[in-house]
Amino acid sequence: ARAWHLVSRPVGEPRPEDFALREESVAEPGEGQIVVRNLHLSVDPYMRGRMSDRKSYVPPYALDRPMAGGAVGEVVASRAEGLAVGDHVLHDLGWREYAVLDGAKAFRVDAGAAPLSAYLGALGMPGMTAYAGLLDVASFKPGDAVFVSGAAGAVGSMVGQIARLKGASLVVGSAGSDEKVRRLVEEYGFDAAFNYKKDGSVAEQLARVAPDGIDVYFDNVGGEHLEAAIGALRVHGRATLCGAIAQYNAVEPVPGPNNLALAIGKRLRLQGMLVVDHEDLRPQFVEEVGGWIRSGELKRDETVVHGVESAVDAFLGLLSGANTGKMIVSLDG
Ligand code: NDP
Repeated sequence: ARAWHLVSRPVGEPRPEDFALREESVAEPGEGQIVVRNLHLSVDPYMRGRMSDRKSYVPPYALDRPMAGGAVGEVVASRAEGLAVGDHVLHDLGWREYAVLDGAKAFRVDAGAAPLSAYLGALGMPGMTAYAGLLDVASFKPGDAVFVSGAAGAVGSMVGQIARLKGASLVVGSAGSDEKVRRLVEEYGFDAAFNYKKDGSVAEQLARVAPDGIDVYFDNVGGEHLEAAIGALRVHGRATLCGAIAQYNAVEPVPGPNNLALAIGKRLRLQGMLVVDHEDLRPQFVEEVGGWIRSGELKRDETVVHGVESAVDAFLGLLSGANTGKMIVSLDG
């Protein structure tokens, strides 16, 4: 079976030559283990951090070893109690066709309740990030005006829709193409959106869509977006620092927002988050977001590429905005 290895650590933008798809033997399951045929692989921005050899909240990928990442698949052999052949599971040994792991590290998912790939997106890690980051970290309350960057992506598209469904007074977002901007307004119910790649600074464009300012900023991007949001936040505004994708490929230290002192007079709260801290919200998340998806009130988009051989292209595409909604690598076709 094939698995993707990292073969050199990218400096700046990753290149296809930094990766190799190699044949690996699939081990027999030990006591307590399962063998999973992966059906959908996740590629996520945080993986860029793991490709570099620096201290972070997740350890770096080892060179010349299979990379890890979210995946859902079907159990094809089991020596683990409570998991049977044919069960579907979510686990962290993605980037490969077959995974052998301890049953205790796999979470059973229900293929009848939602398409399996949803457990990597809206009903999985990105969905939880949006839910916890907005409601818990940013202390969202009905009537808040919300701005989210990376708004057409897996996390951002959920943030905007959850804010709308929870009674935001205004939901605005930014994304990197006119088609994404159209989708934000027409499909996800944002009040307004802008294409940050077009003429005009982010601050000017944000002032146009939110002339009275914002109460909450959900930051997926960092850099110029964060600076513009600090400028637009009202007194007692809150920002969730969730991601800074504009700088993940940076080779030089990145300057901070030049207007941070505004946080003093405005008594802003800028709070970093990691989704893993918010497991206590999971039951509420599954019930509420699952309900909105079933009722059609919340739209769940995916960009799907097919075949394990396309996983690196999918990852590189994710970093350059090729996706709308969650980027998925499907192996079942
Ligand atoms: P997305 O689905 O949003 O995909 C990434 C998107 O980033 C691209 O589609 C692209 O869209 C946008 N992008 C790329 N480069 C830039 C740039 N220079 N400036 C602005 N936008 C850019 O990914 P996710 O939803 O999975 O993740 C979104 C963010 O959330 C990331 O920063 C990620 O690291 C973070 N995250 C953090 C977690 C946490 O626990 N803290 C958990 C999960 C995600 P476009 O066309 O709009 O440019």
